[in-house]
Amino acid sequence: MKIDIVGGGPGGLFLSYLVKKRFPAWTVRVFEQNDADATYGWGVVFSDVALKFLEEADRAFFKRFTAEHVRSDHMEVVHRGVHVPIDGHSFSRVSRIALLKFLHAECRAADVELLFNTRVDDVTALHGADLVVVSDGVNSRSRSQLADVFKPSFVQRRNKFAWYGTAQLISAVSLIFRATQHGVFIAHSYQYSAGKSTFLIETDPQTWQRAGFDQMSDEQSRALCGRIFADDLGGHPLLSNKSSWFEAVTVKNEKWHDGNIVLLGDALRSVHFSLGSGTRMAMEDAIALCNGLVLHQKDLGAVFDYFETTRRPVSDRFQDAAAKSLDWYENVADQMHLEPIDFAYSYMRRTGRVTHDDLRQRAPGFARQYELIHGEPVS
Ligand SMILES: Cc1cc2nc3c(=O)[nH]c(=O)nc-3n(C[C@H](O)[C@H](O)[C@H](O)COP(=O)(O)OP(=O)(O)OC[C@H]3O[C@@H](n4cnc5c(N)ncnc54)[C@H](O)[C@@H]3O)c2cc1C
Repeated sequence: MKIDIVGGGPGGLFLSYLVKKRFPAWTVRVFEQNDADATYGWGVVFSDVALKFLEEADRAFFKRFTAEHVRSDHMEVVHRGVHVPIDGHSFSRVSRIALLKFLHAECRAADVELLFNTRVDDVTALHGADLVVVSDGVNSRSRSQLADVFKPSFVQRRNKFAWYGTAQLISAVSLIFRATQHGVFIAHSYQYSAGKSTFLIETDPQTWQRAGFDQMSDEQSRALCGRIFADDLGGHPLLSNKSSWFEAVTVKNEKWHDGNIVLLGDALRSVHFSLGSGTRMAMEDAIALCNGLVLHQKDLGAVFDYFETTRRPVSDRFQDAAAKSLDWYENVADQMHLEPIDFAYSYMRRTGRVTHDDLRQRAPGFARQYELIHGEPVS
């Protein structure tokens, strides 16, 4: 069987690795528009819960995958300068480029054909393939080309983001909230390598405008953000990697496949980064599609049925949770009057899916802190 994969992000690369490991005689090609060394952004984070799927799917791969990751066993919500620790939440972090390079090496070892600097402008021109996988990201060109078939829908969220890095080492996964004269700014930050941390800044569009970011160059934006988070950055500047301000778009598709073409990863469905699960979702898609191939091989109708039946419910659930999480962030100004523990509590329960009992199980130390103030609430 011949498989062409459009887009060499985590989803496409992991799928190609899985398929070649399972079916060494098949031909698997990955078309990637960029160079092997190119990436945007800084580090990405996985919660241990989020990585369970990988450990269960392939223990040896999981060990290699996480070998160089930076670990932490708690997170922190920082409000009014008070660091509220949330126990029971462990994370591993890695730079996006290190993650991609690791996957490149695994793919090469499995004999996947990696075609860098090769952009696919017309997905229907990939004639020789039995199966074409579209994994070219949230702004997928191939999905746009076949928009009449896949019927994608988009929700543009209102908050503004700038994905910076810094040499300040922020060891716990930290959500830092700073009230300014213009409004609230949020930093999603964590160390992901020996010398760097991600520092993703978020604010609502009114605050962004009032602060004058619409008139600023990249350098000026970074300087002002650096001043807003000066207490957290310990004198280190913010670093840019094409870090211009952007808004998040949530994508879903009515149809997931057509003929021999199937969507995967962010091209199929994006999950907002406030849940830190997009990479994991793309990799879980890859496992499900590969399992479908193992079960049904050339019977693509059955493969796609298996893929969609396995993945659509999870996908929908995640997008619902992400929407609630986004609502919380977009309206955070309404929560800023809360004391730090209450504020952190509101954050932890923002998706509406976490009860107080859940918190007791997952973060007993934090739940106790809350109960010391409020007693035991009815969940
Ligand atoms: C600010 C930010 C922070 C994030 N943080 C996290 C995090 O902490 N944890 C997490 O799990 N996820 C995070 N994500 C989400 C994560 O990056 C994505 O969900 C994940 O990369 C999706 O993988 P993918 O393979 O589907 O797509 P992508 O990673 O987008 O890869 C698509 C690939 O296709 C290539 N491509 C595009 N068009 C073409 C074409 N026409 N021809 C050939 N190649 C093409 C692109 O160059 C790219 O390499 C974050 C995202 C953002 C924006």
